[in-house]
Amino acid sequence: MGLLDGLVDLRSDTVTRPSPEMRRAMAEAEVGDDVYGEDPTVRALEETGAALVGQEAALFVPSGTMGNQVAVLTHTQRGDEVFCEAESHIYYYEVGDIAALAGAQPRPIPGSRGRFTAADLRRAVREPNIHFPRPRLVCLENTHNRAGGTVWRPEEVDAVVAAAHELGLVVHLDGARLFNAAVALGVPAERLARGVDSVMFCLSKGLGAPVGSLLCGPADWIERARKERKRLGGGMRQAGILAAAGLYALRHNVERLAEDHANARWLAGQLARIEGLRVDPGSVETNMVLVGVPGPAAAFSQALKERGVLANPSGPETLRLVTHLDVDRAGCERAVEAFRSVTRELAA
Ligand SMILES: *Cc1c(COP(=O)(O)O)cnc(C)c1O
Repeated sequence: MGLLDGLVDLRSDTVTRPSPEMRRAMAEAEVGDDVYGEDPTVRALEETGAALVGQEAALFVPSGTMGNQVAVLTHTQRGDEVFCEAESHIYYYEVGDIAALAGAQPRPIPGSRGRFTAADLRRAVREPNIHFPRPRLVCLENTHNRAGGTVWRPEEVDAVVAAAHELGLVVHLDGARLFNAAVALGVPAERLARGVDSVMFCLSKGLGAPVGSLLCGPADWIERARKERKRLGGGMRQAGILAAAGLYALRHNVERLAEDHANARWLAGQLARIEGLRVDPGSVETNMVLVGVPGPAAAFSQALKERGVLANPSGPETLRLVTHLDVDRAGCERAVEAFRSVTRELAA
């Protein structure tokens, strides 16, 4: 039994719990010491994951944050400049790691719904000069979390990657929810990672695994990344027990992301009809819905909780709803009822 059983939990797709079938795969996993390279299940997961995003090799890491930071550590030297969208996870939500761990300088680029263009990048990258840091790395995020699960299209990625390479920079793709983007567009994940120098994706979000992310890239680069992971304390031993969940997720839970997207669209459509809420159903691209609420988001969130629905604030008067495999259409219906009830009470 979970502590929050019976509640409709729309705080994040990280709250998903392993299904009985996934747990069985975990229990039956063949394992070994992965720091010695001897865990067959971790190896299988790394090979499978790398192939899905069109890269040679992969590294299993405990979290998306570690995957991103191992990438920054492996791509940069102290004092290098790292370009990232101004509200990107790697800049906004990773505890200042670009500076604190890699000693690199983040340079935020304001985007539009999480995306920026090759022209934006060209404007940000300066000519060499003794005063300037060395421009080195560009980070993209697909889907973009704070923008509300927005999707970069293949040609948008291509244009920024081409500009970055022309300017002598490398590109890391934070694809925590890359499979949501791929399913939303109906293209293989590999197409959205084409040309990038590294890509991270999470198994622990909409894919439903309890733990883990994969950092993917060229084989020699991944060997260097492996060393950085060890330095951070991320070398795991019989991690096959976790990797088995990731393999199960990649085999069974990718295509079903479409259901989460349909639920998010449905939620947005219903909430848009409630007077007092601000929702743009046309802005829902994947599994997130941003809802403008009357008054402080924290108070609204508390009132929803009293009605059995969990949603986190993502701004002073904005809540973020995230659909996932542990919330079905009936759960979404309960959420709409709770929103209706709270809004009515506030209006009274
Ligand atoms: C969740 C997330 C991460 C980090 O993953 P954790 O496993 O929570 O550390 C990185 N990037 C994006 C875009 C995310 O949404």
